[in-house]
Amino acid sequence: MTSLALYDKVVWVFLNMPVNRPMDGVKEVDRVRVLVTFACTDCKERNYTSTKNKRKHPERMEFRKYCPRCNGHTLHRETK
Ligand SMILES: [Zn+2]
Repeated sequence: MTSLALYDKVVWVFLNMPVNRPMDGVKEVDRVRVLVTFACTDCKERNYTSTKNKRKHPERMEFRKYCPRCNGHTLHRETK
């Protein structure tokens, strides 16, 4: 029982440690922003690149944007 309680305490301390420690010259806000590419869902053309905050938007983002190949606004979805 005592060893299990100790294990729980160790896990709790680990989970409450700051996961993202500041690194030299890199702000935390910069490290949660990742480069993403947006491709037209109709023709699969990759028309836009952007950055997103992965913490705010862990899911795939979608935007209606102009696609030059489709010659109109289509749904653009985040690709790998
Ligand atoms: Zn298109």
